[in-house]
Amino acid sequence: LVALTGVNKHFGDLHVLKDIDLSVRRGEVVVVIGPSGSGKSTLCRAINRLETIDSGTIELDGHQLPEEGKALARLRADVGMVFQSFNLFAHKTILENVTLGPIKVKGMKSAEAKELAMSLLERVGIESQAGKMPAQLSGGQQQRVAIARALAMQPKVMLFDEPTSALDPEMINEVLDVMVGLAKDGMTMIVVTHEMGFARKAADRVVFMADGQIVEEAEPEEFFTNPRSERAQEFLSKIL
Ligand code: ATP
Ligand code: MG
Repeated sequence: LVALTGVNKHFGDLHVLKDIDLSVRRGEVVVVIGPSGSGKSTLCRAINRLETIDSGTIELDGHQLPEEGKALARLRADVGMVFQSFNLFAHKTILENVTLGPIKVKGMKSAEAKELAMSLLERVGIESQAGKMPAQLSGGQQQRVAIARALAMQPKVMLFDEPTSALDPEMINEVLDVMVGLAKDGMTMIVVTHEMGFARKAADRVVFMADGQIVEEAEPEEFFTNPRSERAQEFLSKIL
């Protein structure tokens, strides 16, 4: 469903993505881990074309991602993205945060968008908060709204960039539980996270990045118990 081939990206002299080849099948859940600065966020942003690439190709569902224009907006709607900071629209209610995309980008009727939004808010366990403003919700609740908002665009793939790393410990699980549920429902997901519990429970594959390269790929159990590369061993010894 998602295929990156020979993707390179520089920031000035810094080579942040080095010949990245990565393909993700429909329904597959891939966890990306690696040291700070290894290029994980840049990789996510490149898949969504929030970041341009210098060479290589990125395909989504068999189509190469266009550089700009309407075609890009359409393809981007197929890629849901959830960031570390929830990025909700602060001056809109929870419900409006979720209905805005479908109405503006997909031209959905307001009543239909509202119905869709309420069912998604129910799915993430926030339906009782629909009329509130983002600031009235906890971090964990806001992040679940962000997930509902991304799902409202009916994406083909969901990208998560450290979705729980800004949360207090007691809120991490409520967000991870929603993500595990999505994974079980067959959503294709690329998740940057160091939450090993999530990787073990939901991931089909772990991709380990270091210095802009994919150093190792394995099933979660295999990766965590028996990492092959020295880089991965060193990294795991620090976070385990
Ligand atoms: P972290 O775990 O800290 O989130 P990461 O793996 O997500 O790290 P990236 O954010 O992708 O890493 O950054 C990769 C490298 O690119 C880093 O050295 C970073 O400083 C650099 N970088 C990222 N964005 C930019 C930018 N807009 N301009 C210049 N350099 C950048
Ligand atoms: Mg990052």
